[in-house]
Amino acid sequence: MMPANADCPLCNGHGETVLYRNAFLRVINAQDPDYPAFTRVILNRHVQEMTDLNQAERHGLMSAVYLVEALQRRHFQPAKINLAQFGNMVPHLHWHIIPRFADDRHFPNPVWGMPREEACVPDSDEARDCVSRVAHVAQQLPAYHQAIGETFLPLFGDTDGTLPDQADVEQTLLKIADL
Ligand SMILES: [Zn+2]
Repeated sequence: MMPANADCPLCNGHGETVLYRNAFLRVINAQDPDYPAFTRVILNRHVQEMTDLNQAERHGLMSAVYLVEALQRRHFQPAKINLAQFGNMVPHLHWHIIPRFADDRHFPNPVWGMPREEACVPDSDEARDCVSRVAHVAQQLPAYHQAIGETFLPLFGDTDGTLPDQADVEQTLLKIADL
């Protein structure tokens, strides 16, 4: 196991809002005001690339990403879900899972790209659809955050670095899709 890197913000993890954590990974609320459901899955170890993990670890990490994606679809009905893994700034494995909407601030660009020229202004008269969509996300957010904990606990355990059984992950994904 690689040692924690003192200069790495993801090894430190200060100020994070953790939704679920075991010894292997954690799931956090990214706390982005434009994207309130933006969620990150972070490997706890300081590892740079997916191919630095063994097969079971790779499957475990991606299972976490897919479970978050499935819960976002269930709770928010987004136009698209963006999955991203860069590490150019912080070379410590972490996945971004972002539900996207046709009227969000950057659509169809990545959330790190250029904002739209006609951004939705919730106070304007023309913005009723945007307002109801923003309200829907806000209303679903607590249940979504609770569902992350409830979904991860039986699969990943409560403390040790349990990696879930892949058949159990598939069953859970189907269950979430059926709800
Ligand atoms: Zn690190």
